[in-house]
Amino acid sequence: MAAKRKPSPRRGARAGVLRNLYRRWRSRSNALSNALWAETLYSCAYARALPPDDRAQLRELTAQVLRAKAFEGAAGFKVTEPARARIALHAVIPILHLGLDYYADWSSIVIYPGDFRVQDEYMDEHGIVHREIMDLCGQSMSQGPIVLSWEAMRAENETPGDYDLVIHECAHKLDLLNGEANGFPPLHADMDARAWARDFHAAYRKLCTEVDDNAEHSRIDPYAAEDPAEFFAVMSETFFTNPHLVYEAYPSVYKQLQHFYRQDPRQFMKQA
Ligand SMILES: [Zn+2]
Repeated sequence: MAAKRKPSPRRGARAGVLRNLYRRWRSRSNALSNALWAETLYSCAYARALPPDDRAQLRELTAQVLRAKAFEGAAGFKVTEPARARIALHAVIPILHLGLDYYADWSSIVIYPGDFRVQDEYMDEHGIVHREIMDLCGQSMSQGPIVLSWEAMRAENETPGDYDLVIHECAHKLDLLNGEANGFPPLHADMDARAWARDFHAAYRKLCTEVDDNAEHSRIDPYAAEDPAEFFAVMSETFFTNPHLVYEAYPSVYKQLQHFYRQDPRQFMKQA
């Protein structure tokens, strides 16, 4: 039988020092510096408005996203630390009170300098396959990464408004958790699926009518009328950028989103 030797105090102390140094190095290498965090917060009015406890949780989850996800530049885009931090922070907003497990089934974020071109293929109701070339600023692949245009995020930084590309694409990822993107993410046990369908369907129909009548007068981004999946994604980004608008236009949708995201942005954001 091998004897288990008690380490001498010196060896034990030395190992402890090395362990502590390693821990400090590791946490520093993964941490967001105070300066970078302050700069990153500047890109998100909702993050700045959150109470201190929520902001601390936001910072911790942002650091976890930075560790857990790969950030890859495409078409010559060089991914900088501020770009990574900016994207990670916005990605955390929807899951602040849900947890990082909601993003467990994807691992990377691809960033293009501007819009990117994709070929889409879909079958119409007559079974005819159509192929389309489209320029996009964001995309959430059902079995793959989130793809983003840096130009679109830069524009949001310069002129803050109702848009938030990262939250929009992350909302699609949440929607995809229970199958196809259809505006119906996996609801919590205390939520009523029929009430969700009723409230979202009524609001979607109302928006489609408004957009058909006069898209320019719609206060909600008319792109939400594209289909129920886009309606959920646009409502989600607007919920966090201009919550009072969602509440005024569709109070029952606001309450559903409040239950789903377990957040109430209206509490913290000033009326636009
Ligand atoms: Zn979308």
